[in-house]
Amino acid sequence: MAIIIEGKKLAQKIRENLKVECDKLKAEGIQPKLAVIMVGDNPASKIYIKNKSKACDQVGIKYEEYLLSESTSQKELLGLIGKLNKDETVNGILLQSPIPSHLNINQAFKKITYLKDVDGFTPSSVGKLAIGEDTFISCTPHGIIKMFDEYGISLNGKHVVIIGRSNIVGKPLLQCCLNRNATVTICHSKTKDLKKHTQNAEILISAVGKPKFVTKDMVKPGAVVIDVGMNRDENGKLVGDVDFENVEPIASYITPVPGGVGPMTIAMLMYNVIKATKLQKANNEEF
Ligand code: NAP
Repeated sequence: MAIIIEGKKLAQKIRENLKVECDKLKAEGIQPKLAVIMVGDNPASKIYIKNKSKACDQVGIKYEEYLLSESTSQKELLGLIGKLNKDETVNGILLQSPIPSHLNINQAFKKITYLKDVDGFTPSSVGKLAIGEDTFISCTPHGIIKMFDEYGISLNGKHVVIIGRSNIVGKPLLQCCLNRNATVTICHSKTKDLKKHTQNAEILISAVGKPKFVTKDMVKPGAVVIDVGMNRDENGKLVGDVDFENVEPIASYITPVPGGVGPMTIAMLMYNVIKATKLQKANNEEF
């Protein structure tokens, strides 16, 4: 029987601590504010931004939403980001992905000024993470690292296998684990004999996006299993990538879906908004 990593509870604790930080900033006359841009009408994105807005309320962060139509041009999107970059009342800018395919998301991320990059997706943040400097770490990998810390799971010298190499999860997670002295294998759709790799993992992290993708035979007994996947099963129920029922009995630790990585991702977004607000305050005091 595995220990269940309770991301939901930990996220609540993080939000409560951040509320104290947020109240201190407010007492100094600073109201932290997050601006969220959504382009088009993606139903999953609507749920994600609703959850982000709720978390902002709980922490005391002001939340502002910019809902752009599906036909928005790249110029309009970049124009809005430019405006928010200059707006001194905005501390964090988040562009909700996916955006319509006629738009260039990397160019849009690049336009976000570093000090407001609360998702950690700009080249500056990605580069700083790669060379081990303090920066905005993208929220899902950061949330996973926080869970390891809270549960006393050391990465030092451990073999971590990550399935998935996206820019928002797999790649920054690889850097985070390397920075913690893990030996990391990163797998993707072109990896040959995936099972051979996953069976060697002391810590297995799945970010694929397919229900029941990670089965018991892929997991080394005693492994820590982290499920990033957020999928809908045939009944519309939220499920992860891991066949939880069969994997849980052989794992040492496991994250549930829902209630695992998801709430931690949002808590770390709140963390980044407070961090951004403090950095901007320090920057203003310097000049
Ligand atoms: P993504 O961009 O679609 O990446 C999926 C990755 O899985 C890709 O690297 C892909 O390989 C790999 N993959 C697909 N099929 C595979 C196979 N048969 N064998 C091995 N690797 C395979 O997705 P993402 O944005 O990283 O998200 C992944 C999942 O995490 C989704 O369910 C998403 O909803 C969820 N998610 C959850 C949170 C959270 O807070 N819990 C946050 C972000 C994402 P290629 O690169 O070769 O295509």
